[in-house]
Amino acid sequence: MGIATTSLEPWIKSKIGTDSSGGLTRKQIEDHQLTKIQETINLVTSQSRFYKRLYSGIDCKIASFQDFLKLPFTTPEDLKNNPMDFLCVSQNDISRIVTLQSSGTTGKPKRLFFTEADQELTIDFFHHGMLTLIRPKDRVLIMLPGEIPGSVGDLLRLGLERAGATGVVHGLVTDPEATLEQIKRENINVLVGIPTQVLSLARFKDSKGLSVSLNMRSVLLSTDYVPLAIVQELERAWSCKVFNHYGMTEMGLGGGLECEGFCGYHLREADLYFEIIDPTSERPVLEGQSGEVVITTLTRSAMPLIRYRTGDRSRFIPGLCACNTVLKRLDLIKSRDRVYLTQTDYLTMADFDEVLFELDDILDFQVTLTDGMQENENYLQLDVQLKGHVTWEAKRNVIQALDKITLVKDAKQNGSLRAFFYLEAGSGVISRKGTAKRQIQDKRGSA
Ligand SMILES: [Zn+2]
Repeated sequence: MGIATTSLEPWIKSKIGTDSSGGLTRKQIEDHQLTKIQETINLVTSQSRFYKRLYSGIDCKIASFQDFLKLPFTTPEDLKNNPMDFLCVSQNDISRIVTLQSSGTTGKPKRLFFTEADQELTIDFFHHGMLTLIRPKDRVLIMLPGEIPGSVGDLLRLGLERAGATGVVHGLVTDPEATLEQIKRENINVLVGIPTQVLSLARFKDSKGLSVSLNMRSVLLSTDYVPLAIVQELERAWSCKVFNHYGMTEMGLGGGLECEGFCGYHLREADLYFEIIDPTSERPVLEGQSGEVVITTLTRSAMPLIRYRTGDRSRFIPGLCACNTVLKRLDLIKSRDRVYLTQTDYLTMADFDEVLFELDDILDFQVTLTDGMQENENYLQLDVQLKGHVTWEAKRNVIQALDKITLVKDAKQNGSLRAFFYLEAGSGVISRKGTAKRQIQDKRGSA
């Protein structure tokens, strides 16, 4: 028996508004994308100070995707330096502003603007995307920030309502026991959350040392890069399907979603155009090769992004998905935060996640890099939240796991890195201010 086609396909077909009664085709999608690209360019070249400057002297007539390559990229730096200059509408038409702090200790935040129509696009995506993993009447616990109107949790709740389900906004998990009680009390059967936060629920043991059994249909993981070790543990713990979502604020929160084939994200192709480029040559890579994800918003009005470099690494997966959709598949994203130890060697949070979450007594951890006492020396501080008691064995396991990261092992051996370990027993998760993203804290050069 085949699996269900991604719920994104019928939605995208209806959004594109093709009159054919047959299935959606790549040509229909691409024709739609080219038309929307040209419309977006017309909008920004008439309304946005930033794009008027960026495109001065460039012929902005786009008749093919080849033509599109002549347009310069936009970058996160642009969103830090000139956010207001991007605007294509008056400030009165802005209904939501999102400020994103950068991961370093210095630097201006990114700022993004959305109109009500822009936010409606997100709700619509959540509505139709969630149909992949929920059924009407399901009760979904949203473990994402959602108190403020227009926040991710709030828009997801609205989308779920349209899908005939109930979204209960919980916010981030700070006390797993209380969250588990709420799940039971409210008959929750679907969870949406950040990987480590959901993991903290699966790893929670009650006073008798038992796991809490839950009746889950599915789990949706979002926000962070998702370590495979976490997905597998959640599937085991609750015998449910675990879906990954790919999104960033710049995309209007939603970008793509896995189908039941669990082989890459299907993309929101009516609203976003995706490219994969070689970050060095800045040319498109060959189909199937890895590179940097570049997005163009096709339907946004406040602050369209054209050829925006996300910094994320991925590739298009060639061939047909098991769900038989015509939508493209993007391979699961590698962690986007890169912290360089040398000119060319870098660490990402994913490196740590993959080795540390294999240890079943780890609830959460934090990685901080600071300057060492010697020149070119880095201190790596690992703060680990353990499920049980802090023992020598637990510490040894952590140290051994860290040495599985080749770059860390090599850097320790050649003296450019010293590692410090702080283990703490607890049942909670490490609470973080402001951002929900787990990333390496790079505090070098700040003293
Ligand atoms: Zn699929």
